[in-house]
Amino acid sequence: MTATFHKLTPDDLAALRAICGDDYVLTEKPDLEIYGADETEDLCFLPEVVVRPSATDQVQAIMRHCAARRIPVTPRGGGTGLSGGALPVYGGVSLSLDRMNRILEIDADNLAVVAQPGVVTQTLQEAVEELGLFYPPDPASRGSCVIGGNVAECAGGPRALKYGVTKDYVLGIEAVLPNGDLIRWGGKLLKNVSGYNLAQILVGSEGTLAIVTEVTLKLIPLPKHRIMLVAPFEEGEKAAVALTKIFRARLIPSAAEYLEGAAVRCAEEKFGKSFPQSDAEAHLLLELDGNDRSVLEKDAETVGEICLAEGARDVLLADDLARMNDLWEMRRGIGEAVKAVSIYKEEDTVVPRARLPELVRVVREITTRHGLSAITYGHAGDGNLHVNILKRDLSDAEWTDRLPGAIGELFERVVAMGGAVSGEHGIGWVQKRYLPIALGPVELDLMRRLKAAFDPQGILNPGKVLPDET
Ligand SMILES: Cc1cc2nc3c(=O)[nH]c(=O)nc-3n(C[C@H](O)[C@H](O)[C@H](O)COP(=O)(O)OP(=O)(O)OC[C@H]3O[C@@H](n4cnc5c(N)ncnc54)[C@H](O)[C@@H]3O)c2cc1C
Repeated sequence: MTATFHKLTPDDLAALRAICGDDYVLTEKPDLEIYGADETEDLCFLPEVVVRPSATDQVQAIMRHCAARRIPVTPRGGGTGLSGGALPVYGGVSLSLDRMNRILEIDADNLAVVAQPGVVTQTLQEAVEELGLFYPPDPASRGSCVIGGNVAECAGGPRALKYGVTKDYVLGIEAVLPNGDLIRWGGKLLKNVSGYNLAQILVGSEGTLAIVTEVTLKLIPLPKHRIMLVAPFEEGEKAAVALTKIFRARLIPSAAEYLEGAAVRCAEEKFGKSFPQSDAEAHLLLELDGNDRSVLEKDAETVGEICLAEGARDVLLADDLARMNDLWEMRRGIGEAVKAVSIYKEEDTVVPRARLPELVRVVREITTRHGLSAITYGHAGDGNLHVNILKRDLSDAEWTDRLPGAIGELFERVVAMGGAVSGEHGIGWVQKRYLPIALGPVELDLMRRLKAAFDPQGILNPGKVLPDET
């Protein structure tokens, strides 16, 4: 299928200019280089052209043209993806939705927001919060990723623990199929079982089935109070056990992040700020929220007692906004800080949350046995740990020899624990070889047929998600 893709000709460029306007069709190398990369390692695949439509009918026209000419199209949001989903690996068109960035409606009566795909996630969150409403999914990249990318990746983030991930908020969707047809499914409805749920099929489909051009998201009331706790531990596993005990006490924090000391120290160095007791081996960063301050304080006390009983050195409380924001800023910057240390490979492991202590142990055991070093952090409350394997001073040969075996074994163990090969970063380009560890031939074949039903020519984001058949 991919062998028959066509290269763009001057006529194709003229057609795209007629659809979007000259200023929004980019062909200069510096532009192509920006759209040829995302946040996945140091990969870059240049598109032949970048197009920046401003409306759904333009997206339709672009897809009609590309379908007729068999030109590959890769949708692009904020370009913060960590599995290479927005990389135009077959060249063709990088379709940026950045100009479709309007919040169309905040409906406080129906508790819903209607947005275009290019709205920055943090912008949407702040707009609804001004009205006392809450859109909880908050990937750490929320200042630069966009709603379309979040829907395509089913983005999670720290608050998934209590509030769920993007799929739990998508009520309705408008999308353009690879042949240019428009589909709409759902709307401001909490209940809707009218046929197959096309909106949820698109959630997490990584831009391989259709291009999201509008989305209706559920909102909830904004909790009035928040309290944050930081608990440093001498042993990472004990931090993970403490978290399990917090759940056993029937408490669900609004966030429960696990940060290895090494990750915290990278962030301290990068941002020139201090984190409490950063010499500890691991930290739990916990947040509780609610409307009744006294209940919250009591719950925070219980959480603190559990951490101390499990060996936390101390439990530090932050309840003023400035300090909480400061700690969150450091937490959100940890990924960037760790990746600045060395060439790296990030794995997005996820297991049932009660198996977290085992996951912490397994990561250390496997990476050490393969002669690799790793720094781990993530959304521990969801059993979701980001394992950053670092090259440091290994030779290129040692790095390429050791890495595949270690990653394969890690995912085998994760899947044996009831886990999956990606919790929230998606499969995209870089993880597709590991998908058969988690899924059997029947599931993979069904996915291939689903892809063919949406995209019979295979022009939309080719090379992603599904493993190569050879
Ligand atoms: C520092 C950092 C922290 C991060 N933290 C988190 C985190 O806490 N939780 C989390 O889940 N992720 C996290 N991520 C990963 C990333 O931010 C998310 O996957 C995010 O959802 C990607 O959104 P984006 O707009 O940048 O999409 P892009 O990277 O541009 O694209 C991602 C995928 O979506 C597709 N796509 C984009 N727009 C559309 C559209 N309109 N229609 C159809 N397909 C589309 C693309 O083709 C691609 O496959 C983090 C990334 C970074 C760099």
